[in-house]
Amino acid sequence: MRSNISLEEALDILLQQNFKTEAIQVPLLDSLDSVLAEDIISDMNMPPFDKSPLDGYALRSTDIMAATKEDPIILRVIDYVPAGYVSSKTIQQGEAIRIMTGAKIPMGADVIVRFEDTEFTDTHVKIFDFLPTGSNISRMGEDIKTGDVVLQNGCIINAPEIGILATLGKSFVQVYRKPRVAILSTGDELVEIQHPLVDGKIRNSNSYTIAALIKKIGAKPLLLGVCLDEIDTIKEKLETALGWADLIITTGGVSVGDCDLVKEAFQQAGAEMLFWRVRMKPGTPIAVAKYNNKLIFGLSGNPAAAYITFEQFVRPVILKMMGRQKFNLMKVEAILESDFKKMSGQNRFVRAHTYYKEGSYYTRFPEKHSSGVLSSLSGTNSLFYIPGNTGPYLAGNKIVVQLLDHPEVL
Ligand code: AMP
Ligand code: MG
Repeated sequence: MRSNISLEEALDILLQQNFKTEAIQVPLLDSLDSVLAEDIISDMNMPPFDKSPLDGYALRSTDIMAATKEDPIILRVIDYVPAGYVSSKTIQQGEAIRIMTGAKIPMGADVIVRFEDTEFTDTHVKIFDFLPTGSNISRMGEDIKTGDVVLQNGCIINAPEIGILATLGKSFVQVYRKPRVAILSTGDELVEIQHPLVDGKIRNSNSYTIAALIKKIGAKPLLLGVCLDEIDTIKEKLETALGWADLIITTGGVSVGDCDLVKEAFQQAGAEMLFWRVRMKPGTPIAVAKYNNKLIFGLSGNPAAAYITFEQFVRPVILKMMGRQKFNLMKVEAILESDFKKMSGQNRFVRAHTYYKEGSYYTRFPEKHSSGVLSSLSGTNSLFYIPGNTGPYLAGNKIVVQLLDHPEVL
């Protein structure tokens, strides 16, 4: 087993694993946040007919060549066509049809003049200016053409993609199944959140933070609750979870204390250790094992450590399982609002709040940032990565921060 490895090595090992979930068919809205597992080829033009992009009058451009403000052309209005209907009339010389946004262009018309540029009665319309043929017409297929590969296998389904699929009549789509992620919190000190606290105990918050992160990236969390620091108990829980989960996350018990038995439990459950300990803070004691085609992550129990190591290591793996091709968080350059003078030999992720003001991003830090402190993660949206033995970083320095919740998509 590799131990005390760098961040890059750890990510390398994790992203070498290829555990994509299978493609399944789901109802359109359920595909949100999933990755498309098929090419979508259009069997239609969009729009399916030439249509009017505004409310006005459909007419023949040749009829209004001489139109001026002083000497408008008057046309006879022969029909009215709202969106969703088709006029059966063909416009002849000297005629116009009143038309609403979205309606099909009537036969004979080659231009639409908007209401605002006309004067009209029930029977006639005055045109004050020339418009060349084709003006104000949305062409058939201008958005999507028959045969276009509109969405490619591998594309992330977000609101626009849902709309595109709806346009093409896809009420079901093929996507990579959302991984089922089992979460087990270990520690004799833990009680479930609905139970009262007694002396020496704390509530299990990690399961919920991690479940929330999993939900946010579009996978399915399943909480296994809390479990004592006992090899056999942890092992049993793992064995059951390995039966149905695609990935398992435990928190707590991976450090070097007397009760840190999780690594041993991984091995007793038959998993092979991939690595233990990464040279970063918080979250150093992360342990990762592999059982057949499943990964088991043992994260530190410290709430901020569990959160930050999830973001660095578990998120990319789950995204890859879901068929995504990009796993990194977006980064931006920001200006430090105040000093960060603390120096250490350790690589460190510091929680931060990054915001935009007058042309630049700025970053500030909450007062508390130890790995056991969860409260100050609220209100932060970014992480400042400080390589070991660098700094001090002073107010005004330019730094680079990772934006949490903003994965790269293309
Ligand atoms: P450990 O990683 O087991 O050494 O735990 C490190 C710290 O995190 C200890 O102070 C634990 O009490 C705390 N901790 C462990 N598991 C959880 C949990 N599920 N929720 C909140 N805090 C926890
Ligand atoms: Mg513990």
